[in-house]
Amino acid sequence: MLVSAKEMLEKAKAGHYAVGQFNINNLEWTKSILQTAQEMNSPVILGVSEGAGKYMCGFKTIVGMVEGMIEGLGITVPVALHLDHGTYEGAYKCIEAGFSSIMFDGSHYPIEENIQKTRELVAVCAKKGLSLEAEVGAIGGEEDGVLGGGEVADPNECKMIADLGVTMLAAGIGNIHGKYPANWPGLRFDTLAAISDKVGQMPLVLHGGTGIPADMIKKAISLGVSKINVNTECQLAFQAATRQYIEEGKDLVGKGFDPRKLLAPGCEAIKATVREKIELFGSANKA
Ligand SMILES: [Zn+2]
Repeated sequence: MLVSAKEMLEKAKAGHYAVGQFNINNLEWTKSILQTAQEMNSPVILGVSEGAGKYMCGFKTIVGMVEGMIEGLGITVPVALHLDHGTYEGAYKCIEAGFSSIMFDGSHYPIEENIQKTRELVAVCAKKGLSLEAEVGAIGGEEDGVLGGGEVADPNECKMIADLGVTMLAAGIGNIHGKYPANWPGLRFDTLAAISDKVGQMPLVLHGGTGIPADMIKKAISLGVSKINVNTECQLAFQAATRQYIEEGKDLVGKGFDPRKLLAPGCEAIKATVREKIELFGSANKA
């Protein structure tokens, strides 16, 4: 059964670790992430962008696949199915389809409009027992074709959104989606500390987890980050392993063309990435 992310994130905040959100793209991705979380006895959040939702034939298809997989694989760790960077319309579609957690990204609206729409969704999600993530200060890089400016969030605006009763808050602290450029100045820990100070017990979310050095991840967790989003890193791991399989000509040997064989190295690479992140975030054996 899918669960809201509320309890797992409150436990993470209190226990000074973070739960990983791993974005999914297809059955192989979902299976690899769920199996690894189960092996490591870790709670897990499956992230779905609206683009990935379209690719997987709609949010209802995804709910069916994930619920079926939880049963079929005998998954007992807490699993939240979460809309990543949802639009206002997308949030309602996912609520309707049976997602257990929603992100409404109103960071591109003026703060008043972000507040008004977030407030409305807080009430809707509360009624259905779903967790809700809000965002203040756009996160840099590209997410489904939307290029964020990499703003640093205003701690006072963070407090205004947190006070609406959201479950968790994503705030721009110099983090970027995708690969980080060589001249990236690093996370803004001064801003993170100021936000943490303002919002108290509210779990904070760090987007763009790919390529942030381990020491910065640990420091961010110590300053109140309880959810870390990982997407690109699994894609790069899958790509490298699949490329190697083909370059070594393994698809040309015997039944190496069988998709279950062809995609297996990529799946193993996703599992290794997820395992490494769960260890780094400290959520192993916290299910
Ligand atoms: Zn993000």
